[in-house]
Amino acid sequence: MHKADILIIGAGAVGTALAREFSKFKVKVIVCDKNDDVGGDASKSCSGLTSTSATMPVGTLECKIRTISHTMVDVLCRDLDIPIIHCGSIAPVLTDDQMEQVPKLIDRAWQNGVWDYEFMPREEILEMEPTLNPEIKGGIYSPRDSQINQFLMVVAEAENAAENGVEFLLDCAVTGIDTKDGRIQRVITTKGEIEAKWVINAAGLYCDDIAKMVDECDFSVHPRKGEFFVLGHDTPVKVKHIISSVPTPKTRGVLVIPTTDDNLLVGPTADDVEDKNDKKTTREGLEEVRTKALEMVPGLRFEDTITQFVGARPARVPEGYNILVSEKAKGYVGISGIRSTGLTASMALAKYVIHEMKAAGLELERKVGWIRTRRGIVKFSDKSDAEKDALIASDPRYGKIVCRCEQITEAEIVQAIHRPVGARTLDAVKRRVRAGMGRCQSGFCGPQVIGIIARELGISEYEVRKRGVAAYMLDH
Ligand SMILES: Cc1cc2nc3c(=O)[nH]c(=O)nc-3n(C[C@H](O)[C@H](O)[C@H](O)COP(=O)(O)OP(=O)(O)OC[C@H]3O[C@@H](n4cnc5c(N)ncnc54)[C@H](O)[C@@H]3O)c2cc1C
Repeated sequence: MHKADILIIGAGAVGTALAREFSKFKVKVIVCDKNDDVGGDASKSCSGLTSTSATMPVGTLECKIRTISHTMVDVLCRDLDIPIIHCGSIAPVLTDDQMEQVPKLIDRAWQNGVWDYEFMPREEILEMEPTLNPEIKGGIYSPRDSQINQFLMVVAEAENAAENGVEFLLDCAVTGIDTKDGRIQRVITTKGEIEAKWVINAAGLYCDDIAKMVDECDFSVHPRKGEFFVLGHDTPVKVKHIISSVPTPKTRGVLVIPTTDDNLLVGPTADDVEDKNDKKTTREGLEEVRTKALEMVPGLRFEDTITQFVGARPARVPEGYNILVSEKAKGYVGISGIRSTGLTASMALAKYVIHEMKAAGLELERKVGWIRTRRGIVKFSDKSDAEKDALIASDPRYGKIVCRCEQITEAEIVQAIHRPVGARTLDAVKRRVRAGMGRCQSGFCGPQVIGIIARELGISEYEVRKRGVAAYMLDH
């Protein structure tokens, strides 16, 4: 049986931010996740924006936490070597109806403390972003919106937490929670039982299932599905800013996003569905994205699409962030409603949750020697010829390009496997070093990556998975 002071269920943005925050203290922390890797469900399939609270409903807990968290992002990126681009965003105003919304939007942003959210005239906006539809009537510029590498953000927080003593149990689904005399006793998982004094439910889309295990579920969660296109590096029409539709109460709308890896991400939709496993893109959804994106950036070349995907926002009914430190099941902490803003909000959310737990009696003593920083894997393709020569001299595996599309070397893949909370599947390697993220989507490098994973982990190639419990790459 595993034992912990604190068990965190879920290794997405929220769970790993909590893990890192707790790793500052003298407590034994375990994070378990049903997936084979850290990265979460929503967290790895979102737009990757760290945005101000300009468009948030005023006065909500979500708005407060997100506003504070947004100020923490840059330090996190600096300390953990997480790629981020400070590109700002523009919402082009295309219709008279949208123009009528502008004063209300600016007023709301003002109330949320986002005083640099400004309307700008057509000429200036077109000068800043010449790819926009020349018919625009102007645009709202938000200079502090950024795009972060969402995969590396979660991986970096997990690696840093692990270096500071947090244990990660992956492929480990929680199936039940035992309580006795109104207190949490132990958690039952597919990898055995875990005894914990505190259990934090950071299970995203599935947080209602976990909440039901302790009879603390007075809400429901359904997926709000978002469909995306990813366009390759070589697409000729690129944007310098995040281009966003004029927001509605439900969503920020379709976006055209320059990414830290120089792709274009176009999407998402926002459709409420029932099935939590619905990860299928649809003709209608993608057509909606295409139409709305082309209205804003008419030159986009969807022929350069290299892949499409779906992310599911964990939408809560009733809506809104909810943090419950249970009275009924002492030791249980429920986090729910972390829907469209959780990547940005995760750092402050972690602090908020710990603050609430302390108020309920949790005692924490700070460690001496907490490791604040982490360095990422050196990216061979970014280096000058002289630097590449030096890298090859230090490790000949830098001399072998495995992923031709993204120019990823064997040395990078091997490091991805052997880091703390290392990659064990093809998708986990892909998220860490981009092998398989390019135009051929691992058609060429897939077999080689399978061989490297098998060799490095000392397993048969037949045991190497793409992702998930039974998605083996080779036929048994
Ligand atoms: C399309 C889309 C666009 C978005 N855009 C943005 C954006 O631009 N900026 C932003 O800040 N936010 C954005 N978000 C929201 C953001 O992605 C989420 O709020 C955030 O990722 C939630 O993180 P999480 O850790 O709570 O959930 P998740 O990332 O879903 O992690 C939950 C984890 O819990 C695990 N789990 C579930 N059940 C169990 C169980 N029984 N046992 C063990 N583990 C379990 C899951 O496997 C998963 O790994 C977007 C979301 C989507 C879907």
